[in-house]
Amino acid sequence: MYTRASASDWNDFKQPSWTAKDLPLMKHLETYQKPVNNDTHGYNGPIAISNGGSVTALAQDFLHTSDAVGIPFSDDLQDSNTSHTSEIWAKYINRHTGRCSGTATAYIHSVMDTQSNLYLCTNAHINHIIFKDNKAIGVAYIPMHNRMHGGKLVETIVKGRKCVVLSSGMLGMPQILERSGMGNKELLKKLDIKVVSDLLGVGEEYQDHYTMLLRRWCLVYHVSNESQTLDNFLWGVPKVQCELFQEWEVSPEKVHLSSNAINARFKICPTKEELKEMGPELNKFWDKYFKDKPDKPVMFGSIVSGAYVDHTLLPPRKYITMFQYLEYLASHGKIHIQLQSPYKELFFNSGFMNNKADFVPIRWSYKPSVDIDIKTVKELQPDGLSVGIYMGTWHQPGEQYDALKVHESIKYSAEDDMAINNWISGSCFHLLLSHVSVDE
Ligand SMILES: Cc1cc2nc3c(=O)[nH]c(=O)nc-3n(C[C@H](O)[C@H](O)[C@H](O)COP(=O)(O)OP(=O)(O)OC[C@H]3O[C@@H](n4cnc5c(N)ncnc54)[C@H](O)[C@@H]3O)c2cc1C
Repeated sequence: MYTRASASDWNDFKQPSWTAKDLPLMKHLETYQKPVNNDTHGYNGPIAISNGGSVTALAQDFLHTSDAVGIPFSDDLQDSNTSHTSEIWAKYINRHTGRCSGTATAYIHSVMDTQSNLYLCTNAHINHIIFKDNKAIGVAYIPMHNRMHGGKLVETIVKGRKCVVLSSGMLGMPQILERSGMGNKELLKKLDIKVVSDLLGVGEEYQDHYTMLLRRWCLVYHVSNESQTLDNFLWGVPKVQCELFQEWEVSPEKVHLSSNAINARFKICPTKEELKEMGPELNKFWDKYFKDKPDKPVMFGSIVSGAYVDHTLLPPRKYITMFQYLEYLASHGKIHIQLQSPYKELFFNSGFMNNKADFVPIRWSYKPSVDIDIKTVKELQPDGLSVGIYMGTWHQPGEQYDALKVHESIKYSAEDDMAINNWISGSCFHLLLSHVSVDE
């Protein structure tokens, strides 16, 4: 899914030439295939960005309902500045071919096709960086499975003439840095690693964005059988699979499979009044991330036109799934090596929900989200409602829309809040792909 950081996220790095206005590559990498009224996107880059082949009517209903509860529709929620609106959610999919557009095709295979100076070595595990007088000059790697040489760690060394760039992700990076002598010097000394740079932050402040979704299937709803969802395809109904694949081959630019059925989303921020209600638990967290930074959303929510669960577990009907993410976390974890060898067990604590402040925004956003879900589903049954929002215009309204009709918000008691907290502690997941109870 096409997702860009807020401008203030870049500025928060507090690094010269890494501020939002210094980042032309954000534009250069993309060929933006949606109409838009700002100049924050690029049109000649190798990564194509579009809405995919189709936007379901369910997604349009979701946008319409979001608007009714005070989250207005926008052409572009990815301009790095907008934070409290909804949009048709773009993907890294080329509008013309209906195929995924990503790093491998844009920057690796396409370059290797035409140039001889890019060599790709797969199944290679970087052990550490090689330094000369504290300047990185290369890396030492070993085969990923290391079955040769009787299992001994025999390294291959690659040297760089100009610079060494590491991009081994948020879990791989701290390990390589620590094995290379960059990290907390006390830890490095304990592991008998020569200190190149005493950097306290390496391996600290691990974060993910928490997703509220599956547990007890709270946010998977049954919708009418006429609705357009991916469920029959995901169940493997042969006729539907055959039709959709055929459509995809013949006209990839306008078919259902040129999308993943995640078509709409919103980002939200609390009003001043809501912020007051959210209480002191949130204050420190709020001051750290959000104060004077209106471009930062607190939560985002989205709809999937289909059940985002194991279909073998569901009765054969049609579904929508609603999910929400917490965008910035008070909870932090850590990851550190425990021995020099790259094959030894790590210390990893995800820190999942270890700060109570994270409950507050999730609980707050649960309420409008459920409101939107219920109203979307209510409106869909029995006859359905499609409002025709497409590419940023309201060009094809359905029957006269009465926002008041769906505007009775649910009232929550303290007991309800407690129940939502319990649900949060049992349903959050993302990278770890399972829930972690706060009591554990
Ligand atoms: C379930 C999930 C869904 C997501 N969905 C989206 C989305 O819809 N939109 C979006 O924008 N972002 C999404 N993200 C986030 C996005 O995938 C990451 O932010 C992004 O991939 C980070 O890129 P990276 O290059 O920094 O690291 P990575 O993509 O993690 O790449 C690091 C690579 O380094 C390799 N590596 C690690 N250690 C070593 C070593 N010692 N030697 C050699 N190789 C090593 C790893 O195997 C990996 O291939 C999602 C993430 C997850 C987990």
